Amino acid sequence: MKKIGVLTSGGDSPGMNPAIRAVVRKAIYHNVEVYGIYGGYSGLICGNIKKLELGSVGDIIHRGGTMLHSARCPEFKTKDVQLKGIEQLNVHGIEGLVVIGGDGSYRGAKALTEHGYPCVGVPGTIDNDIPGTELTIGFDTALNTVIDAVDKIRDTATSHERTFVIEVMGRDAGDIALWAGLAGGAETILIPEENYDMNEVADRLRKGQERGKKHSIIIVAEGVCSGVEFAKELQELTNFDTRVSVLGHMQRGGSPTAADRVLASRLGARAVELLIEGKGGRAVGIENNQLVDYDIVEALSRKHVLDLELFKLSKELSI
Ligand code: ADP
Repeated sequence: MKKIGVLTSGGDSPGMNPAIRAVVRKAIYHNVEVYGIYGGYSGLICGNIKKLELGSVGDIIHRGGTMLHSARCPEFKTKDVQLKGIEQLNVHGIEGLVVIGGDGSYRGAKALTEHGYPCVGVPGTIDNDIPGTELTIGFDTALNTVIDAVDKIRDTATSHERTFVIEVMGRDAGDIALWAGLAGGAETILIPEENYDMNEVADRLRKGQERGKKHSIIIVAEGVCSGVEFAKELQELTNFDTRVSVLGHMQRGGSPTAADRVLASRLGARAVELLIEGKGGRAVGIENNQLVDYDIVEALSRKHVLDLELFKLSKELSI
């Protein structure tokens, strides 16, 4: 393989830049040319493709977002459009593609693979919900952003003896809520994977108050319900002075943490190795701190599993 491409797609995540850098540098190290595809699958089908050099990825390791930009491209779900994408890659003589993104982006890579074009998926999403890896690029940074906000909210919650409901990202996966809740000492964590009982939430708050707690923090994953609605209902039930903070898109930005930069570097470089070894149709990941790769079709057929032991622990530690 003498020429490869790289694109970022779907929701961006901090750490995509160090992943792109690793792809470019690793490829050039092995005398392989690299082409950046700008704007995800949209950029691919309209041929927004430029050659990248060593210097093209200089000074990005510490930057959030993605220098290749990202986009949603719903039309890429159709076969004709996918074949148009492959045509563009062929025009440039690009023989393999690294796709950095979430599970939607993986489905695009899987489709290209099924048409006989070699792709390798690199898990780039803050949601930590990609099967075949224990961690995704951006999750650690997003967690640290949430924790920073939770700590600040805790200060004001204590001063005013308030209950705070903090809504975090996670439509289908509760990983951000769970890990941030555990790391931030939240009283209650609501995740899409587990049902909750409003009376039980209220009881926990009352018990905390009885033993002299000055504040309460409740973390709600957006996939469970709206934080605003939840807070309203809770205040009506308990009469506690309740406020809401919806953290929103700030969770997707910011300089990637050291952990995310290292993970992105390892996974990006491994993706290039696989393409050079002629192994397309793979998804790279990390398990027990070891690099792994799976057939992308098989990886997508599995379901991400949240660590319920952590959930149990968070309940035990927040009595
Ligand atoms: P993420 O990759 O973060 O999960 P999306 O779900 O929005 O984000 O997917 C990103 C892009 O991947 C979509 O805009 C589309 O171009 C492509 N994609 C998603 N699902 C499929 C699919 N089933 N087949 C082909 N391409 C897909």
